[in-house]
Amino acid sequence: MQAVAIVVAAGRGERMGQGRPKAFLELGGEPLLLRAARAFEAAPSVGKIVVVVPEPEISAARERLGVLPKLLAVVAGGERRQDSVLAGLRQVPAGFEGIVLIHDAARPLVDVELIEAVARQAAATGAALPVLPLVDTVKRVRGGRVVETLDRAELGGAQTPQGFRCALLREACESALVAGVALTDEAMAVERLGHAVHAVPGSKRNRKITTPDDLAWAESVVAGILHT
Ligand code: C5P
Repeated sequence: MQAVAIVVAAGRGERMGQGRPKAFLELGGEPLLLRAARAFEAAPSVGKIVVVVPEPEISAARERLGVLPKLLAVVAGGERRQDSVLAGLRQVPAGFEGIVLIHDAARPLVDVELIEAVARQAAATGAALPVLPLVDTVKRVRGGRVVETLDRAELGGAQTPQGFRCALLREACESALVAGVALTDEAMAVERLGHAVHAVPGSKRNRKITTPDDLAWAESVVAGILHT
């Protein structure tokens, strides 16, 4: 059974300092959202794509993404990322027993290989995400004072797409909502339930575009000036 991809693009992207929501900024002449969605269009494990955008962007996004044959729905997101994920999940047919892949539109350079690796691992174990090893030593700092040095060998940066059996993710997200837990990613919701989440190797190219510097980096990658 093919997976359903949910691409979340309903953030305001205030750290970019632009008027337009981040996912609609262009990279190599194409909105970040369209680039990210195209990767899922090209991934053999994906059957349908749901896109979540700010309410005022729905009709523009439908027009722009209408070229993708796998597009199932474009819907409005919510206040927090986790609300946007739930809005996307509501579009997945009840009783769907396959994998859902949640992806940040702010990671437009995701490639098919990574999508397939996450989808395979999630199908085998129920929950998977890409993790990139950290290069810096990580300190816990309180009030400007270092209180602890963490063991870098055990730490990693979480990326998307994050893949889950659909029923498991629904249960985890709804449980977090009821408990009033703020989530920074979906794996966290699943971990809360005590379910194992498996890591696959992340990729440097799959960097999240957060600031103008990140966008400049991505432009160099797309232009072939910089290789990752
Ligand atoms: O803000 P941040 O970069 O962490 O957002 C990660 C992804 O989640 C982005 O693609 C953003 O558009 C999305 N998001 C969302 N709804 C929100 C907040 C963030 O879809 N309310």
